[in-house]
Amino acid sequence: IQDTAHVRNGFPRPFPNTPTNVLEQLRMTGKVVVVTGGADGIGLSVAEAIAEAGGTVVLWFNSNKAAIERSQDLAKTHNVKSAAYQVDVSESEQVAETIKKVVKDFGKIDVFVANAGMAISKPILEQTLPEYKKQMSVNVDGIVYCAKSAGEVFKRQGFGNLIITSSMSGHVVNVPVDQPVYNGSKAYVTHFGKSLAREWRDFARVNIVSPGFFDTKMGASPLCIQEAYRMSPMGRQGHVKEIKGLYLYLASDASTYMTGSDVLIDGGYVLP
Ligand code: NAD
Repeated sequence: IQDTAHVRNGFPRPFPNTPTNVLEQLRMTGKVVVVTGGADGIGLSVAEAIAEAGGTVVLWFNSNKAAIERSQDLAKTHNVKSAAYQVDVSESEQVAETIKKVVKDFGKIDVFVANAGMAISKPILEQTLPEYKKQMSVNVDGIVYCAKSAGEVFKRQGFGNLIITSSMSGHVVNVPVDQPVYNGSKAYVTHFGKSLAREWRDFARVNIVSPGFFDTKMGASPLCIQEAYRMSPMGRQGHVKEIKGLYLYLASDASTYMTGSDVLIDGGYVLP
């Protein structure tokens, strides 16, 4: 086997030309960030974090048109640019067209947060074929379509940063709810994201966030709340404000040496 790593063009690469002050590294001024599932829950919280740090934030929403007003509020409150686009991430053509629209309107995409997801939490033996297909179309196809369209932009630009929202359910079979399809879909996107970190090594970073039980619409079931209380060392669900810092870190120049990482944020639920 021939070792060719040392002859890759331009290697070793220089250190990034980023500030040394960590608060400056976290500033998002001049950066354009797309967040899917940006109308609600974790996605909205991520959008707030980006706007609070001075970044331009583009919310992608599916059905919840409140995203338009939320985007206007973010722009006004934080004196940043913001917009909201309606797109179903499980439709590849809509994703491709909307990516083009963002680039046309904002000139570039620095960070793409592929966050939209859904769960139909049932045992496989009780799940219908359409329910199975629906989850796979959003949680797997949706992430793949967004990654592919964003990756084409990143390659053209020569830079980019993809953050995928997966789940601790991609790591463990969490109880008490049997949801093998959801769990499997999240294991897929975690490994898919890690694989992209390698494929895109010359032009983009890719990281994965794996949340535990958070207090969103998805996490609202009494069983989830009880399980978080019983089983996680923190003794409660996470509040969405507690996930902002992690996404901001991964989106910003504070994390320029991070790629291919899968970061659990679960109050310690998934302990070895
Ligand atoms: P949420 O239900 O509040 O938000 C999900 C968002 O995804 C919504 O805005 C919804 O409109 C959007 N969405 C769903 N289908 C879509 C489609 N076809 N096209 C475009 N957008 C679509 O839930 P959340 O907890 O904020 O979920 C965000 C992500 O976090 C999901 O990927 C979810 O699997 C993941 N997650 C959540 C938890 C939790 O406990 N809340 C735990 C682990 C992982």
